[in-house]
Amino acid sequence: MIYYCMDTIDEFLKNSNMPANASKAVRMREPLAKHTTFKAGGEAALWIRPNMIAEIFQQARIQGWPVRVLGRGANVVFSDNGFPGVALDTGGWSGVETFDQESGRIVFRAGTRIDRAVEMLAKHSFGDPDQEASCDVMGALLSFGYGGLEFLAGMPGTIGGAVYMNARCYERSIADRLVSVAIIDERLRHVTVPFRAAEWGYKRSPFQNRDILITTAEFSLYKKEKTALLADMEACRMDRERKGHYRFPSAGSVFKNNHAFGMPTGKIIDELGLRGHSHGGAMVAPFHGNIIVNAGGATATDIRFLVDDVAQRVRKSLGFELETEIVFM
Ligand SMILES: Cc1cc2nc3c(=O)[nH]c(=O)nc-3n(C[C@H](O)[C@H](O)[C@H](O)COP(=O)(O)OP(=O)(O)OC[C@H]3O[C@@H](n4cnc5c(N)ncnc54)[C@H](O)[C@@H]3O)c2cc1C
Repeated sequence: MIYYCMDTIDEFLKNSNMPANASKAVRMREPLAKHTTFKAGGEAALWIRPNMIAEIFQQARIQGWPVRVLGRGANVVFSDNGFPGVALDTGGWSGVETFDQESGRIVFRAGTRIDRAVEMLAKHSFGDPDQEASCDVMGALLSFGYGGLEFLAGMPGTIGGAVYMNARCYERSIADRLVSVAIIDERLRHVTVPFRAAEWGYKRSPFQNRDILITTAEFSLYKKEKTALLADMEACRMDRERKGHYRFPSAGSVFKNNHAFGMPTGKIIDELGLRGHSHGGAMVAPFHGNIIVNAGGATATDIRFLVDDVAQRVRKSLGFELETEIVFM
């Protein structure tokens, strides 16, 4: 692990024009296990959760810092050696940027929690997501909310992370309702990328493997009867609860599904008897073949080993090449 001296970090912060009240959101040698749902991995030289992510991203790049963008860390594993750069946590940049209630066009900031976003849409509750939700009083009295993203209820993560991953469940993807995405691109320009279906696919977005920052995402939603909306959201959350999603720290599904294999990856792993198979503190969930959990004290190395081991066993037994969904940073 490379550590930077205080002067270098101070210089970066000074040049970044971080407001004085943002200082609580800056930490040196911050354990990334605190910011990932797997609760594993080493330290970031610098972790920042600013309320101006675009500026910090641009400054870090200009000054030559390596940057990793972090939503809620629900799909990532950082190495035990940590990350010798800036972990830019988008959580301070959350909420609704614009909303046209007539057309159902809404622009969410990247750091908005997914579950909070769908809740807002159902209840017309558009306050600061990190504070007690303030309500659009007139909206709260209406019998409808806004549908289109309710299938994401209960999914950990942020809007930015979900767009980057093209998060998906119940046969639907976040891209299904996407209109455009605002990013800071590799040349540090603000660019709006319109949705083009050909660039999106199963858990694939045009932003993967690019050095960009998603700042906002615009969706096209539709009015939906509020009781039905809330019931659909509750059903999704209950289904996740029942499937054990929240029982242990994890990052959800480890491997992508592949229709060519004829069955879901979880079933393939189950049928090889790998549920409960473990390495160090990492374990194939006893209740789901495609989830690896931190059963206690798992390191990123344990997780990586187990992921590779499961993939190798599947390859040896069936000749299938599993593709990981989780991102090893
Ligand atoms: C219990 C559980 C259940 C889950 N179920 C599902 C599921 O059903 N379907 C599914 O698809 N996923 C699922 N996941 C995975 C995860 O919830 C999603 O992938 C989610 O979209 C990740 O969001 P995040 O903000 O935490 O992203 P992170 O994990 O923080 O980041 C993921 C990737 O996106 C990049 N990124 C994040 N934000 C930005 C940004 N603003 N700009 C540029 N890049 C960015 C990161 O650099 C990283 O490469 C589950 C996870 C858990 C823990």
